[in-house]
Amino acid sequence: RDEKERLGVKDDLKLSINAVKTLEARYLLKDEEGKIIETPGQMFRRVAIHVGIVELLYDYMKFQKKGIVAENGKKIPVSGIIPTQMEVLKRAFTHLVNEEQLTGTFEEFMNFVQTKPTTAMDTIDKYEQIMRNLEYVPNSPTMMNAGARLGQLSACFVLPVPDSIEDIFDALKYQAMIHKSGGGTGFSFSRLRAKDDLVGSTKGVASGPVSFMKIFDITTDVIKQGGKRRGANMGILKFDHPDIMDFIMSKDSENTILSNFNISVGMTDEFFEKLDADDYIELRNPRTGKTVNRIKARTMWETIINKAWQTADPGLIFLDEINKRNPVKNIADIEATNPCGEQPLLPYESCNLGSINLSKFVKDGEVDYERLREVIRLSTRFLDDVVDANKFPVDKIEEMTRKTRKIGLGYMGFADMLLMLGIPYNSGAALEMGEKVMSFLQEESHMESERLAEERFVFPGWYGSTYQEQGIKMRNSTTTTIAPTGTISIIANCSSSIEPLFALAFVRHVLNGQELMEINRHFENALKNKNIFSEDLMHEVARTGNLHEIDVDPEIKKVFVTAHEIDPEWHVLMQATFQRYCDSGVSKTINLPSDASPDDIAKAYRLAKDLHCKGITVYRDQSKVQQVLYSGTKS
Ligand code: ADP
Repeated sequence: RDEKERLGVKDDLKLSINAVKTLEARYLLKDEEGKIIETPGQMFRRVAIHVGIVELLYDYMKFQKKGIVAENGKKIPVSGIIPTQMEVLKRAFTHLVNEEQLTGTFEEFMNFVQTKPTTAMDTIDKYEQIMRNLEYVPNSPTMMNAGARLGQLSACFVLPVPDSIEDIFDALKYQAMIHKSGGGTGFSFSRLRAKDDLVGSTKGVASGPVSFMKIFDITTDVIKQGGKRRGANMGILKFDHPDIMDFIMSKDSENTILSNFNISVGMTDEFFEKLDADDYIELRNPRTGKTVNRIKARTMWETIINKAWQTADPGLIFLDEINKRNPVKNIADIEATNPCGEQPLLPYESCNLGSINLSKFVKDGEVDYERLREVIRLSTRFLDDVVDANKFPVDKIEEMTRKTRKIGLGYMGFADMLLMLGIPYNSGAALEMGEKVMSFLQEESHMESERLAEERFVFPGWYGSTYQEQGIKMRNSTTTTIAPTGTISIIANCSSSIEPLFALAFVRHVLNGQELMEINRHFENALKNKNIFSEDLMHEVARTGNLHEIDVDPEIKKVFVTAHEIDPEWHVLMQATFQRYCDSGVSKTINLPSDASPDDIAKAYRLAKDLHCKGITVYRDQSKVQQVLYSGTKS
């Protein structure tokens, strides 16, 4: 408790110390002198109100359509609506009127709010509750910016990079504005002409995509998201771009070059056909479409694999798979994803994410599907409200995002759930569990989006979409995404995303030479239940983080496996299982032990393609000098 007070946080939610530290550093509102002015509970209230206030507009929509609202609703006193909330309402009102979903003036709407009881307050209270319970947490920008000056609530953006200096520097400016507000950006550089190709206006030669990527990288260094965190990028180049080999080789294991980029090669089925036939890839000038060079598919493949073995980059993204499942092909093809790869997006599209903490839904050794259904419905609605409550950094992004209304609801705490149920991650039972919870999420969130379409309108880009062809009315063109949940899983004190545990116990070196042992709570409970918990055992486990070479109860050893002990195949199988029931993508790192071979990586990449994943990223332990997460004892 002392530590929390030292940080100036009044923790009204009994959060973990790491959660409090994270909230203190970046999320809780501060006054001009930097003093924290809200508790974690008040933060969730702030978020619930700024998002849920747009429910008033939908109550008004219902009133306009049907002449009634709610039988036992509450009245929101207009005097209680603070200026930042009023701003959200005015902005969202204008958009809904422009989209012909609402009619009339803002004054008429405010008159409605003053005179009619609505359901908005009830919904706001429910939003607050699921967040306070840590059953559901929205992505970081929503918590940082709701009700604050920037008001930008989304994590994921994709910007096009057309082949002209003006357009490249526009993209750079948009990138800066997005990073400033806490979002991450993805780019396809495939349209840029190759290095040494002609430049018409000056008769000079072009620098090529990799050089331009360096400017985007430096901009990221310079723009520190309002001092909160440094931005992140995804860079994509198609396999048949003339500069593809430079691109594949562009990163280093010290992570000093393009350090703010993850990179992925944009693959299509054509590449794999050529690889299997041991054929050549024709490299085509994007400006003229003419073949300028050719390279053996196998040579390119081996370079990709060796580089990924050395540096973890490049990953792959499977463009055909992504576009086969793109519901709004009528609007555009997808060429890129957000930084961590889980969100394929159209050019200028953004998406807001949120994740449900599965560890909160295990009751007496069973999954409480009733409560899970309630939380899925509420958080789907929450994310749809975010589309309206959002303040977008660039007009074109606003336009595209409102057209498709993409939202990305996902899970975290999946590994915790498995441990609580006594299921090892590397087992058929775990895959079955994954299939069960993910198909449930997909089905329930789609049903909620259909209900929202009934109550509100279909997303404006629905006309001409595959949903229209199928006769399914949807409010959102996608509803599900599995995000990495890097920060929000710390806030919720659960395992991240659908990843296995990284370490069962480790020693954290804190200030003044102190050491702090951190033990996974499910591991500790399991040992205590069997009466085999001891400090000595913990010190032994903390050396490697796992039970691999420790003689303990075999049942415990089987269930408590960690990321590096799990065969890469299981990692890929789990990713593919979740992908099968996911509209967007699945963030997953295929972890490999440090002694894994390039061939292990080749197998994982190929398996991901064959199992219809949308992309793949590997990480071989110790392949990067500055590694963020270590299992075992490290300072
Ligand atoms: P969080 O837990 O903070 O909500 P995630 O780890 O789930 O975020 O990441 C989700 C997405 O948020 C990423 O794919 C990326 O688009 C964006 N993102 C994450 N970290 C950063 C960062 N440091 N800068 C910019 N965007 C980021």
